[in-house]
Amino acid sequence: MKPVIPFISQQSRQLQTDWINKLTSAIPSESFKLANEINPLEQKQCKIAIVANPSQDDLKLFPNLKWVQSLWAGVENLIQPSIDQGFKLIRMVDPTLTEAMAEAVLAWSLYLHRKMPSYATQQKDKVWLPQPYVFPNQCKIGILGLGELGQASAKRLLDNGFSVMGWSRTKKNINGVKTFHGPEGLAQMLKATNILVCLLPLTKDTQSMIDNKLLSQLPKDASLINFARGQLVNTKDLVNALNHNEMYHAVLDVFEKEPLSSNNPLWTNQKITVLPHIAAATNLDTAVKIVAKNIIEYRNTGKINSVVNLNRGY
Ligand code: NAP
Repeated sequence: MKPVIPFISQQSRQLQTDWINKLTSAIPSESFKLANEINPLEQKQCKIAIVANPSQDDLKLFPNLKWVQSLWAGVENLIQPSIDQGFKLIRMVDPTLTEAMAEAVLAWSLYLHRKMPSYATQQKDKVWLPQPYVFPNQCKIGILGLGELGQASAKRLLDNGFSVMGWSRTKKNINGVKTFHGPEGLAQMLKATNILVCLLPLTKDTQSMIDNKLLSQLPKDASLINFARGQLVNTKDLVNALNHNEMYHAVLDVFEKEPLSSNNPLWTNQKITVLPHIAAATNLDTAVKIVAKNIIEYRNTGKINSVVNLNRGY
């Protein structure tokens, strides 16, 4: 008999049960169980786990895992020294999620490009004031991170007439996109960027990298869209730049602590748009198909595809 596959998550019990039901329908030959319903003997036999932002303590209950399938695209919580990483890690790469992210990047780039935050404030104050029109090809959008999500977003922006630039760790060639890499490349891109879109993973190298030093290299009136992780941004430096009118606006979908507490001043800052981590959520139906494919392939061939590089951190 195959060992059970635990579902390890801090989500509501209902949501976890929904996942298990869908997974069971997709592969009836496997036995999926909520992590807290697995006895200690079974825990030691588990080789595969499905996780959605699990607690480290829960994960440690399964000492013999060979691979862990994350239902989230960002896996920073799973790459920590305190976890004895005896397993391989697969993160969620789902074309549906990628397209949702590209759509979100386009939507909020248009929001900033067409000065919607200004018109919202003007309406509140009953001010009739047309803002100058800028052609999209004069609006330069710089994307931090040219991975799955960054590249799809770049294409969507290009299709809509924007001037698109992108920065990554290693050199990239992407049709129509001006690409940069490494620290010098970053400085070059920043000085030309009107809208900076963050789609970097959270790693020891990217933590707090959007700080005063980085923001001060942007032209005056530039904006930031952070769709990656809250910890990439030094919030104090960002708020300072916005409040001193060195920047136009920031769209923040992710925060150091989520949900954002009701007394957090970011909620009421007119120069910040707060979103509740909705840029691109994992879709249960499409994600289940991807997980099922990975499990079936592993059972048939022993292969574990597209693993996260644990040294690199993404
Ligand atoms: P990915 O495919 O792993 O791509 C990461 C990109 O970042 C790569 O281009 C990589 O460069 C670059 N990079 C990493 N470290 C770097 C560094 N130190 N300097 C320069 N570039 C660096 O990741 P993805 O699938 O696009 O996802 C990106 C992040 O989006 C995830 O980690 C997650 O946190 C976030 N996310 C947010 C939501 C949401 O709803 N808000 C949804 C899904 C994902 P190379 O190409 O050279 O390796």
